Amino acid sequence: MAEKAKFQAIKGVRDILPPESALWNRVEQAAREVFGTFGFAEIRLPILEHVELFARSIGEETDVVSKEMYRFEDYESPDLDAQRKTLSLRHPSVERPFEVRFFAHNVDVLTTMMEDGLKTGQIPKTPENRILVLELRSTFYDFSKTFAPPDYKGVQNRLDSYVKHFQETALAVMLGDQLTLRPEATASVVRAYIEHGMQVLPGNVKLYYMGPMFRRERPQKGRYRQFYQIGAEVLGSSDAPGIDAEVIEMLMRLFERLKLKGAVLSLNSIGDKNCRPAYVEKLRAELQKVREQLGADCQRRIETNPLRVLDSKLEHEQPIIEKLPRIAENLCADCRAHYDEVKRQLGLRGIAYKENWRLVRGLDYYMRTTFEITATGLGSQNAVCGGGRYDGLVELLGGPATTKGIGFAIGTDRLILSLQEAGEGAAPGGPAGKADGPDVYLAWFGAAAQVAAIGLARRLRDAGFVVELPAVEMKFGKSLGLADRLKALHAVIVGDDELAAGIVTVKRLSDGTQQKLSEQELFSYLGVV
Ligand code: AMP
Repeated sequence: MAEKAKFQAIKGVRDILPPESALWNRVEQAAREVFGTFGFAEIRLPILEHVELFARSIGEETDVVSKEMYRFEDYESPDLDAQRKTLSLRHPSVERPFEVRFFAHNVDVLTTMMEDGLKTGQIPKTPENRILVLELRSTFYDFSKTFAPPDYKGVQNRLDSYVKHFQETALAVMLGDQLTLRPEATASVVRAYIEHGMQVLPGNVKLYYMGPMFRRERPQKGRYRQFYQIGAEVLGSSDAPGIDAEVIEMLMRLFERLKLKGAVLSLNSIGDKNCRPAYVEKLRAELQKVREQLGADCQRRIETNPLRVLDSKLEHEQPIIEKLPRIAENLCADCRAHYDEVKRQLGLRGIAYKENWRLVRGLDYYMRTTFEITATGLGSQNAVCGGGRYDGLVELLGGPATTKGIGFAIGTDRLILSLQEAGEGAAPGGPAGKADGPDVYLAWFGAAAQVAAIGLARRLRDAGFVVELPAVEMKFGKSLGLADRLKALHAVIVGDDELAAGIVTVKRLSDGTQQKLSEQELFSYLGVV
């Protein structure tokens, strides 16, 4: 056990070390290749976005937006912030006129700075900001009349209420943009799609991404605060069920290729704006009748989002939920036809699925098709992938109303966990792929041998071998000992004798067999073992 380090990674985030990182690379590479064959191209997205992007798309009421985002105000004006803080430094007293004068001076300076900031764009030119700064200026005029030097005749409580008002108004001014680490990437893909006018591109726009997401959740196995997703989205004017089925097919091909164990596809349709609102009301009405039997979370969801009640894992709620009205029986004709065709299209592709009427997904923007894939070895956090259709999202974020969308996000951490549990550990090291260690440990002895070794290492690496070249000269025994501990396949030894003879000594470390070879012989020897 290593000594406790002074600095440790913060709660819910972690380092991914070798050899596990090799497995990550293998998974990501497989995704690139499989998605590529379906005509998807990579989009690289920023990790920072405006809070508003997610508030608008995911929904203000969701846990992700209301509690879990890592958000901050991004301002370029530390001097403004410092000036604002001076208003809270010392509460002025009418007994000490200089304090009142100093406070007034600070308010005046701050207001002027904010007025300038609004003009130059140093602080955001929002209507709220304009009103707040005007308010500061007009209150300052009032205040100056009331507390005019040299006569500070105002009473203390009058002064107190001015001070409070100045402090609160100044604090409400947004000095910069409200930014957040992204909690997911679908909204970012849609933002980029709109921002770059991708609707003019021919056919469907098919994009994939991979990278870290951030949510302040309670960490546990398979749930982290910085976690990774590999996702894909199809954006375009068509909502043909064949698109839904092909996206799912692509996922299943990837999981097959990675040999993911026990992958089960769950499928549902949650209707659209024509039929879902009526269903939600029906659900709410039924839930009201059983309110007393539900836990606190579900009681709250009756008001905020009744669909989320269906997500509940609480044992005592299960029999109650089983009796609730089901969305499948409440779909409008269009949604029913769409859902039936998705299922038929999956059948054409030989993809097995399990219908799950309770699969509603946590994010507000989903409609019609929703799906989830679970795998073995993950305990309670067994969903490795979630996805669905979100036809209204592009319009909601200011894009063309005709653009439809569908996509998914794989939880890479969980996918990797499941592969590890099933014994699909790290990929073997080195391009030759034969062992954990280097192909060649190149032991050199003497200054002239080092020169030769540097050249030989370069030629071996160019040929794709993994070469470990000691940076400093070591004693023979120590050097070969290190080769063993690094689990090298071969030690190649270059000393004065070898140099003089124009050869190298090659030792196979698994059995100690040793031979003397020319460089050309060495390459063919390494090539065939
Ligand atoms: P979502 O973006 O919530 O639809 O999640 C899609 C997938 O991302 C889930 O099925 C999980 O595999 C994964 N995921 C979501 N949240 C976390 C988390 N906090 N830690 C690890 N994986 C997560």
